[in-house]
Amino acid sequence: MRLIITEKNDAAKKIAGILSTDGVQTESYLKVPYYLFTDGEREQSVTVGLKGHVVQVDFPPEFSEWRKVEPRALIDAPLVKTETAKSVVRTVKKLAADASALIIATDYDREGELIGLEALNLAAEENIKLVRTVRRARFSALTPGEITRAFSHLDHLSEPLARAGEARQDIDLIWGATLTRFVSLATGRLGSQFLSVGRVQTPTLVLVVEREKERRAFVSEPFWVVKVDLDSEGRRFSALHKEERFTDEARAMAVFEKLAGPGKVTAVKQTSRKVQRPAPFNTTSFTMAATSLGYSAAAAMRVAEDLYMSGHISYPRTDNTVYPSSLDLREALQILAQGEFAREAATLLALPTLHPSRGDKRTTDHPPIYPTGGPRKGELGEREWRLYELVARRFMATLADDAVMESNRVDVNLSGEPFVARGNRVVSAGWFEYYPYSRQKDLELPLLHEGDLVQLADKQIDARETQPPARYGQGPLIELMEKHNLGTKATRHAIIQNLYDRGYVHGNPVEPTEMGIKLAEALQEYAPRIASPEMTAELEKDMDLISERDLTKEQVVTISRNLLREAYGFLEQNRQQVASKIYEGITDDRILGDCPKCGTKRIRIIRSKATKKRFVGCEGYPDCDQTYPLPQRGDIIGTGEICPQCGSPKIKVLGGRRPWVLCLDPHCPTKAEYREKKAARASKAEAAGDGAAAPKAGTAGRAATAKKASAAKKTTAKKPAVKKAPAKKPAVKKPAAKKTAPKKTVAKTTTKLVAPATVTVDEEPR
Ligand SMILES: [Zn+2]
Ligand SMILES: [Zn+2]
Repeated sequence: MRLIITEKNDAAKKIAGILSTDGVQTESYLKVPYYLFTDGEREQSVTVGLKGHVVQVDFPPEFSEWRKVEPRALIDAPLVKTETAKSVVRTVKKLAADASALIIATDYDREGELIGLEALNLAAEENIKLVRTVRRARFSALTPGEITRAFSHLDHLSEPLARAGEARQDIDLIWGATLTRFVSLATGRLGSQFLSVGRVQTPTLVLVVEREKERRAFVSEPFWVVKVDLDSEGRRFSALHKEERFTDEARAMAVFEKLAGPGKVTAVKQTSRKVQRPAPFNTTSFTMAATSLGYSAAAAMRVAEDLYMSGHISYPRTDNTVYPSSLDLREALQILAQGEFAREAATLLALPTLHPSRGDKRTTDHPPIYPTGGPRKGELGEREWRLYELVARRFMATLADDAVMESNRVDVNLSGEPFVARGNRVVSAGWFEYYPYSRQKDLELPLLHEGDLVQLADKQIDARETQPPARYGQGPLIELMEKHNLGTKATRHAIIQNLYDRGYVHGNPVEPTEMGIKLAEALQEYAPRIASPEMTAELEKDMDLISERDLTKEQVVTISRNLLREAYGFLEQNRQQVASKIYEGITDDRILGDCPKCGTKRIRIIRSKATKKRFVGCEGYPDCDQTYPLPQRGDIIGTGEICPQCGSPKIKVLGGRRPWVLCLDPHCPTKAEYREKKAARASKAEAAGDGAAAPKAGTAGRAATAKKASAAKKTTAKKPAVKKAPAKKPAVKKPAAKKTAPKKTVAKTTTKLVAPATVTVDEEPR
């Protein structure tokens, strides 16, 4: 019997369905499903799906207690592989025992190669003969054509490629765990509040922080814009003074004052230009497009993987932007023609030949992302549908013609001052027909000729300021990571999510917290290797050498350990400086704004020693006794905004599905409705015996699920007030801000950060 191992259960099921000639028999062992079938050559086969990595590299258990083990000891600690999905492992072994041949059908990339090698090792423990018979199926879409092709052209598993993946895994664990523990211990941030450091995440954080510093250093310059509305026989259009930005207010005013109609057209120009159709989607450009539709990068990849698993799109992790010649574009269009895009696909199919666009990046592993199914709208959820539609439309756009736009420019002399009006319209829609996302609205100008007179309908002078460079959205940040070679198409979105989970950044576009800024600065100064993309560049080179058998995995890991030992020594000498720098950031994050009561001091987040609950109090205590209650769950970020109703600072509460902006004052009129609901809930709860709305204190520091629950990092107070998203209605089951203890018993001494007893190791996302 042939054993076929895939990366996930869905793929195992799908492949069995495609290869079987007379049905699939589903069985299970320890609740792990597997699929028996007979293929066209009457061969008995079974497919089983893993759960991605089913073994994980880690330190032996004696290294797991953060406070008992010097982080330095991790540098040379042995590494062990532990099984993470025991029932899957046992099922694979049971099936391997009876198998005569093994086919690895994991995802077709470096990670997939490593997962495949792990699966082979497990199978070989049970049945050593399989090592000699193992083959590899490489495919880019879970479609009948692609799967049949892959299984009739079986390849070999590439051990060096898998070893390269292993080297990276080991190095990331050793560096990440050692430095994460050092920084967490030095700052006393343990449990769910631990501070992570990593080869990819730290340089990414640095990119975000550098941009924020540019913004803070930016000095806005005022400028003035003079605009007019002109009228030509009843048709209005606007024109801008040729000197687009006046830096001298007096001069701008003088120009503005003297403007009077009519004006005379001095020149008319018309040019047409091509707007090139887009290149095929790779992971980065797909993520960019998806984030501009409102998806987070992580959500976009999750949905894309689901779409791949259900056979609607090809493998979404790819760098390639050139369709391979083996890809049958017509067949893909025919599939689309059976779904919601019948009309569009038919138009393209009617073309005598198809000439697809090409991007700059060409790789040979996977094709660019293209649709492989034609689902109906109702068959997919709304979020899935919108991304499927994006992929389908992009695919069609890459086969369509370039668009042609016509640009018009009219020069007008008004009271001796030059003005310019610009218009544009689509002459030939080309690919815009298929891909409307980036299409500009037409702006048509009246038909004018040199010498025509136009009336002055309105004039305007606007005072503006130059703007600092914008923060990165998640899409552009991923693009930047790619440029610096940080992470892979498979990990970038997860790395960004980790920065959010650890409280280093918040908001969208991505804004660092003060803690994130200071952590980045501390590492840039005292551990520059981990903070710059250089280390990654070297590692990439070494991994290529491993794949080409010029270096062994062991050699590469040893070199890396030596470098870490050096870096660690320097960091340890400066332990105090590192800790106090990060503390500065943590302290700054607690400041929420100026105290509305005394007006001279600032208000900040304080944790009560007695009750362990947090609240907001004035730094001027005991002279000023202003306090506010706080929700006990979620991270609090200052917004720099003041509530227009009551004058209290507004805060943003993170956690839950969406951040939640609210005024600090529980008696603010904006909260009347909310308070009623809360009262209704509270009376219900009291009737049930326990009135506490907030979660029990004391659990705060225990690391149960360290990843999600990062607890204490706050704000950004000193920044200029930036407009934040409008306050969402508080979500229904948010714990309300109970008037918790604060008042007089609480001294202004800030509470120590909690250090819990034990910690689950959660060093680095894998
Ligand atoms: Zn005060
Ligand atoms: Zn208010």
